[in-house]
Amino acid sequence: MVWNRALKDRFEAESGAVLKDWGGQVPAAIVFPNNYRLGMSNLGIHALYKWFNNREDFLAERVFWDEQELSTSGALSVESRRPLTDFSVLAFSVSWELDYFNIPRILRAAGLPVYARDRDESHPLIIGGGATLTANPAPTAAFFDAVCIGEAEAILPGLLDTLKTGGTTPRHQLLAQLATLPGIYVPGHSKHAVKRLYTADMDSFPVSTQVFTDDTEFGDMYLLEVQRGCRFACRFCLVAGAFCPFRWRSVEVLLSEAAKNLKYRNRVALVGPVVSEHPQILELLRCLREMGFSLSMGSMRVKPISTEVITELVKGGVKSLTIAPEAGSDHMRRAIGKGFSDDDVAEAVGKIGAAGIRQLTLYAMVGLPEEKDEDAADLAALVLRCKAEADKYRLLLSLNVSAFVPKPQTSFERQPMAAAADINRRFEMLSRSLAPRGVKVKPDNVDWGLVQAALSRGDERLAAVIETMDRMSLAGWRRAMKQQGLSTEDYAHRRYDDNEALPWGVVEM
Ligand code: SF4
Repeated sequence: MVWNRALKDRFEAESGAVLKDWGGQVPAAIVFPNNYRLGMSNLGIHALYKWFNNREDFLAERVFWDEQELSTSGALSVESRRPLTDFSVLAFSVSWELDYFNIPRILRAAGLPVYARDRDESHPLIIGGGATLTANPAPTAAFFDAVCIGEAEAILPGLLDTLKTGGTTPRHQLLAQLATLPGIYVPGHSKHAVKRLYTADMDSFPVSTQVFTDDTEFGDMYLLEVQRGCRFACRFCLVAGAFCPFRWRSVEVLLSEAAKNLKYRNRVALVGPVVSEHPQILELLRCLREMGFSLSMGSMRVKPISTEVITELVKGGVKSLTIAPEAGSDHMRRAIGKGFSDDDVAEAVGKIGAAGIRQLTLYAMVGLPEEKDEDAADLAALVLRCKAEADKYRLLLSLNVSAFVPKPQTSFERQPMAAAADINRRFEMLSRSLAPRGVKVKPDNVDWGLVQAALSRGDERLAAVIETMDRMSLAGWRRAMKQQGLSTEDYAHRRYDDNEALPWGVVEM
């Protein structure tokens, strides 16, 4: 009851949510396997909500994972506060491997069988989608009746038409029908690798914040997706491997979308893997400012980098930026497919400082294939060179460094993750060299990096591990892995031979 009241308050504090009458349409729950705040900061959830509710034959409500909610009332939708069992379709949007643990927890809390094999016509159809499931659906496939491989805009029309007409179709027959659709993987039914679907026509599908709430990671900002994919081909990067080709929306469509939402927020965050590569980025920034928006753009590529673009961002109120040298030497950067040099990095820092940005975060990885301790020393030296450049402009510099996790569907998909001891030693080298010189170093947690590596390149056996984790803890993970006779290290540090079949072979990019 208490939680019901909290959900009602949450819904009433939102703007832009849709509450359709129940009756006549297929009810679908858009499920985000993490809390409301993170879910509402995720544009994928906003896009799904829009595409489902744009159809007259469907209604969509949102469900988030929240410990408090699940312990008191099970998973309820934000809009009408109904349980998941009231919906015909549950559409999970999953974009982070560590959220896998919440999938069975939500299903269990809702009173639904966790495994697809145990569900029948009396249960909703449960569909998964999102970045990590597109890259490798294997570890969670057993929980879903079907998995979307690719982008919702391209897959949903065919999928929803089939679900609409399939209401009375026996489940096994409906699953067989779904397996014939492009971009749909149905475990146990799909006979061939499923080809990823993406939309070439970005302008017909503008994506931006649909529901406004103060309870997001982005606070007062309106999120506007500018582009997808990337024209570069960094060997470690999932964007290059699984979200190509590089596509963008026209300035006209972006401005028209932004204009509709100026009444809710006057600060716009431009979203996309390489927003600064939009061919008309300068025009876009200027027009948004002229409309009355202040601007936010999280990161920029080191090269090419435009002083005019940075200046425009500063005029739009941007005070901090991130750039990603990724590695500390020209030879390591060549090895990972980054086409710029140490000099380019230092020059970018100078341009950013000179334009008036106040805080700059450098992002890099440690534990890259063939990396040695000397490469971490090179990274420290590059950061100090950047610090000297930043100091000329009173630009505050910090370093975020994470462990390299090999991802499926990238050039490094068969490579092992480096040993935890090597990564931790290099993290320490960086902290020791940089912290006394005034550069804050924020390293990732390597143990969770190993779990992420296991889940990212894992196979179907991991479903039993994910299913038994009743809360997210390293001890619980280790226990569950041991119970299943599995080892994190075997997954994370495994090198797949060139001719060896991969667990994500069910997906064709
Ligand atoms: S790391 Fe950045 S530049 Fe490289 S492919 Fe990925 S998105 Fe593009």
